[in-house]
Amino acid sequence: MRRVSIFGSTGSIGENTVDLIARAPGEFRVVALSGGHNVDRLAEQAIALDAEIAVTAVPDLKQRLADRLSGSGTEAAAGPEALVEAARRPADWVMSAIVGAAGLRPGLAAVEQGATLALANKESLVCAGELLLRIARAHDAAVLPVDSEHSAVFQALAGEDIAAVERVILTASGGAFRDWPIEDLVRATPEQAATHPNWDMGRRITVDSASMFNKALELIETNEYFGIKPKQIEVVVHPQSLVHALVGFRDGALMAHVGPPDMRHAIGYALNHPQRRALPVERLDLVRIGRLDFREASETRWPALRLAREVMRLRGLAGAAFNAAKETALDAFLAREIRFTDMAAVVEETLEAMHRENALKCDRMGLDQVMETDHVARERAAQVVAQIRTDA
Ligand code: NAD
Ligand code: MG
Repeated sequence: MRRVSIFGSTGSIGENTVDLIARAPGEFRVVALSGGHNVDRLAEQAIALDAEIAVTAVPDLKQRLADRLSGSGTEAAAGPEALVEAARRPADWVMSAIVGAAGLRPGLAAVEQGATLALANKESLVCAGELLLRIARAHDAAVLPVDSEHSAVFQALAGEDIAAVERVILTASGGAFRDWPIEDLVRATPEQAATHPNWDMGRRITVDSASMFNKALELIETNEYFGIKPKQIEVVVHPQSLVHALVGFRDGALMAHVGPPDMRHAIGYALNHPQRRALPVERLDLVRIGRLDFREASETRWPALRLAREVMRLRGLAGAAFNAAKETALDAFLAREIRFTDMAAVVEETLEAMHRENALKCDRMGLDQVMETDHVARERAAQVVAQIRTDA
């Protein structure tokens, strides 16, 4: 039986992963599951899948989790260190589906023990792609992308020579405000931003889709994971979210990956790789769909895309600073401290300040440097947020 762990099992990607595992009784031994505040759901999952250990990221919730698990045979643990320890437990396949930079250390621990890492947590690649991939190589651990676009690119590249790739095109739904007049964006509320036209995802990534910070992270993710040059990576708006990405080769061919907006495809692909097994996803009826539309992804409407290009130019620790500033700006927007359109300004000013201070350079990336950069960027970004509030 394959031993599997799921970090962030109570989230949107986590629940979809649990769903696929639960559909294959007898095939998997579940080692660790992890969640945050929702310990009741975490305990339910752990009991249903007979997990060895369940970890909540929230130290204060350890007793509640232990109570829910009493008599089940599943161990309870809590806190960030317990998460890393759980990721060190021998496993063949580990899903990294915590949201944010908090997903980095469990993912690193998983590849250090040689597990195949199914990577939904794109922030790991943005903050520390060089480090994560270096450690994975050193331990002969495969890293498989679980973002729909990157899974699509990965599949389009199977059996191909990466040197023959001319360009990669990532599609973006355009998020909640795709059709809003640009001057209205300043009044967008967190509730409005948290609705997505096509995908059902966690709240943070849904708001990031509206601002295109999600696509910005994905540009960097493509650059880090596949080593494709920034100028070869394009973004187009595709309102139907059926074409997930396209790879263009030097003979002019474009290979598109088409499928329903259901993350169980990308998760299942990574779970079954290198095999393809049947998955419970909708089969597309092309005649009913009728048409696929594509539009320009404007950097004026979505400045996050421009900032991603700047991060790829700066490299080094710029990704870690970018992500941390983005997370801080997102929290401030969700708390109604800044406006929707202020988020890009917070990120841009943070990056500029840290670049001026020469704080984004590094030769050989280490975890301490990444964590320090993350910390400094959050402080800087919080200062920019405070300044915006004073000016308002
Ligand atoms: P979510 O908010 O639904 O779930 C996040 C999970 O992480 C939950 O289990 C939560 O308890 C846990 N968590 C939150 N903060 C934590 C912390 N500080 N420490 C430890 N655990 C914490 O998020 P999601 O939409 O499932 O996204 C998870 C990851 O997958 C993100 O990196 C996201 O960008 C990526 N992703 C998601 C989708 C999607 O369709 N939802 C698609 C592509 C990529
Ligand atoms: Mg994606």
